[in-house]
Amino acid sequence: MTNAVVVGSGPNGLAAAITLAERGIDVLVLEAADRVGGGTRTSELTVPGLLHDECAAFHPMGVASPFFQSLDLEREGLRWLWPEIQLAHPLDGGRAGLLWRSVEQTADGLGVDGPAWEQLMGRASRNFDALSRDVFRPILHVPSHPLELARFGLSAALPAPWTARRWRADEARALFGGLVAHKFGPLTGPLSSSVGLMLGAAAHAYGWPVAEGGTEAITRALVARLARAGGRVETGVTVTSYDDLGGPDVLLLDTAPDAVARIMGDRLPSRTRRAYRRYHFGPAAFKVDYAIEGDIPWENPDLLRAGTVHLGGPLEEMAATEARTARGEMPERPFVLLGQQYLTDPLRSGGDSGLNPIYAYGHVPHAWRGDATDAITAQVERFAPGFRERVRHVHVRDTRGMEAHNANHVGGDISAGANTARQILMRPMIARNPCVTGVPGVFICSSATPPGGGVHGMCGHNAALAALDWLRS
Ligand SMILES: Cc1cc2nc3c(=O)[nH]c(=O)nc-3n(C[C@H](O)[C@H](O)[C@H](O)COP(=O)(O)OP(=O)(O)OC[C@H]3O[C@@H](n4cnc5c(N)ncnc54)[C@H](O)[C@@H]3O)c2cc1C
Repeated sequence: MTNAVVVGSGPNGLAAAITLAERGIDVLVLEAADRVGGGTRTSELTVPGLLHDECAAFHPMGVASPFFQSLDLEREGLRWLWPEIQLAHPLDGGRAGLLWRSVEQTADGLGVDGPAWEQLMGRASRNFDALSRDVFRPILHVPSHPLELARFGLSAALPAPWTARRWRADEARALFGGLVAHKFGPLTGPLSSSVGLMLGAAAHAYGWPVAEGGTEAITRALVARLARAGGRVETGVTVTSYDDLGGPDVLLLDTAPDAVARIMGDRLPSRTRRAYRRYHFGPAAFKVDYAIEGDIPWENPDLLRAGTVHLGGPLEEMAATEARTARGEMPERPFVLLGQQYLTDPLRSGGDSGLNPIYAYGHVPHAWRGDATDAITAQVERFAPGFRERVRHVHVRDTRGMEAHNANHVGGDISAGANTARQILMRPMIARNPCVTGVPGVFICSSATPPGGGVHGMCGHNAALAALDWLRS
């Protein structure tokens, strides 16, 4: 029987393992941490009973993923829950841009900028499924929907401030800028609009849901599916060398490229080794989880209906702060992503404490060694005066902690690689299929491969398909 080892049990490792196991391959997943799941784990980080997502929290890419859809994870117990407002972006003075599931409702709220929002996001969201079948794959392939892809490509290629010129008021411009800020880095480069367009279109097409009971529910569903296909997972095993793996027929590495280089050593062709050495990591996340009394006292009450809140001020302010973090400077007011999952999923506030869990992370420079807790709290306080007094407990994970928690987060980079234009198109190296390492039967399958970061499993699934092709060849 053909056998495979998958190193790493993040959503991409598990997706690769399921794809192989369902084709009759004997699959063993080896995970360094003592729990399965990588970026899809949930823990009681502050007080017992309060559930905090350790990493990923909102799942536009999960619910839209063609691979996850094919698995019917709801049958394995996964339940998506949608907030009333998918995303809110407050501005000083109590104003806010609000992104609803409905493009029309969003456009209505954006007033004079509504028609331009509807024009840009409407078509992309209506055609999201067709688009995602092309965008969720390595770039070099014969597109299934060339016209849609070409139309998307024309808008996606633009630097975000160019795209934002179509809007006049701060609300729409900031809403789009906050979506683009998910790329961690300058908002100005070519292809920066692609991130905002994909996340905005996904929000309208599928929403930004949470997983009931915490993101870990996705892991549980994937592990259940893997077990039914005969695959196994061993935790607490850090793989350091190919020599320790007993020569599997295929090896898939759900790791960052530098770890692939260490594990494979001299076996890696020099071209791959050079490319992995040149691979760029980006700015980092500094995570703060709060346990608070009651709700956040937002100046704008609509924010208490939103799942995700972007705290970064107007587009120009975010462009300046993101440029600074990319240069290695810590801004006074970092871009902060805040999550109120408990509003959609009240189970997260379980226990007797009467407290609610708040999820937040700020963008900080790569491998930054400072403490951003106060700066992140101040960004919340800026739009919710009185927040600070409601905080009862705090759990902090700095850039060093990020990397200790998961070796893929090199220097605290939670995207497993900078989203530069080149690395958005092709990562971790320029090749027809970038998941091929050049060692026969060995593939990299983490989010350092196309289509990049996010809980969608597509990197793992794509790499496993490449491995199956190789086995057949
Ligand atoms: C703070 C934070 C917030 C995020 N928010 C979101 C969000 O809201 N929505 C979203 O879609 N995405 C989000 N993400 C990104 C998402 O979590 C990742 O893109 C996704 O988990 C990547 O999956 P992966 O399988 O490639 O890698 P990972 O999930 O990082 O898993 C890799 C696994 O490999 C293991 N590993 C590494 N090296 C070795 C080794 N040598 N031996 C054995 N095991 C090893 C690690 O321990 C880890 O478990 C967030 C990430 C973070 C950290």
